[in-house]
Amino acid sequence: MYFIMKKIIIAIDGFSSTGKSTLARQLAQKLNYTYIDSGAMYRVITWYFLKNHIALSDDVAINNALQQIEISFQQNKICLNGTIMEDEIRKMEISNHVSEVSALAAVRNFAVAQQQLLGQHKGIVMDGRDIGTTVFPDADLKIYLFANEAIRTQRRYDEMLLKDKNIGIEEVALNLQHRDHIDSTRAISPLRMAHDAIKLDNSHYTMDEQLQIAYQWALEKINEE
Ligand code: C5P
Repeated sequence: MYFIMKKIIIAIDGFSSTGKSTLARQLAQKLNYTYIDSGAMYRVITWYFLKNHIALSDDVAINNALQQIEISFQQNKICLNGTIMEDEIRKMEISNHVSEVSALAAVRNFAVAQQQLLGQHKGIVMDGRDIGTTVFPDADLKIYLFANEAIRTQRRYDEMLLKDKNIGIEEVALNLQHRDHIDSTRAISPLRMAHDAIKLDNSHYTMDEQLQIAYQWALEKINEE
């Protein structure tokens, strides 16, 4: 006898460097679901705007630019018009501008519409800032990931150091504070814990411990009538 496992939507939100992408990727793998890094979409758009000198005050240029952007994923790697962009979009220059770009209404409408399409067949884990509140307000499982600021800064610093030996921890700390502030105070879809989200504070958990907790929550939702 075959059991068709119910497919659900899992939304993971939280401040920068709480480990959302790591958890979302591992959880998707364990469930055989699709993983979507919504932050990477905003990073790709930011890369394109910087490359093409799009002024954030120029609505016409922004709309024209968005029409030139086609985002896709190849084995979890984000592509812009068919080219893999993973390395370029993780650079500090992108981190320094992405929150201003992602606060724009036209950019959010563009990205959210694509995110919703990607989730139409469920079986997806998506991480970001507004996934449980705006993109999938009816998501079956919403996790609000949390970690204290010192731990988040250290994690991001360690990660950036692997790519750029000249990076300073001060620069990383300032970038996180800057993005957290804009992401949680912007007018459209600010970062909020959805009223029906479960908070997971991973400050003192290993990656494996947080994965086991989230996996159990996911199984409970999948097995719910
Ligand atoms: O997740 P990551 O830190 O790569 O996201 C980069 C930026 O993209 C965030 O700081 C935020 O400004 C924006 N973002 C967003 N909404 C999402 C995901 C990311 O505004 N759902």
